[in-house]
Amino acid sequence: MKNTTHVIISNRHIHLNREACDILFGKGYELTVKRPMAPPIFAANETVTLKGPKGEISGVRVLGPLRSYTQVEILRADNFVLGIEAPVRISGSKDLAPLTVIGPCGRIDFDSVAMVALRHIHFTPEQAAEYGLQKDQMVQVKVSGERQLIFGDVQVVFTDGMEEPMMHVDVEEANAASIHPMDIVEILPQE
Ligand SMILES: [Zn+2]
Repeated sequence: MKNTTHVIISNRHIHLNREACDILFGKGYELTVKRPMAPPIFAANETVTLKGPKGEISGVRVLGPLRSYTQVEILRADNFVLGIEAPVRISGSKDLAPLTVIGPCGRIDFDSVAMVALRHIHFTPEQAAEYGLQKDQMVQVKVSGERQLIFGDVQVVFTDGMEEPMMHVDVEEANAASIHPMDIVEILPQE
């Protein structure tokens, strides 16, 4: 049974839908590619400013392509800068924290938009079967090296069309365990 995967590290970012892109960047605006990521996802040249009751964070990268919903994924420490309490959630969840997003052409006051990403591993259903894992199952992940660490509550997420599985963590989680991009980690059963 397979039990290792590689790791991708995410910084704070925002996903936009058509409506939000129109307001922030102008009617019919098309995002431009700065850097391709796992297809079809790309880091766009465009950035926004996040504004909470306490402070702002500028230069927040937009990830393309456009989606059906707008979602801001921040780091836990960003909560303290912005003055919000974004919950830890898997992408696409409801009941997120309120936040204002500002672009060059406009601003949007969202009631529910900001979250801290729940760490997770993307598999196709076929790949998950090779690991003996089910959709939405929680596992542990062991990181080796100078700051070795076992992460609990890592969710198995099903995504079609990937060549191989990949774990997603944010910058804070990566730094806590001295993870470098594409490091290999070990998947363990959740206790
Ligand atoms: Zn992911």
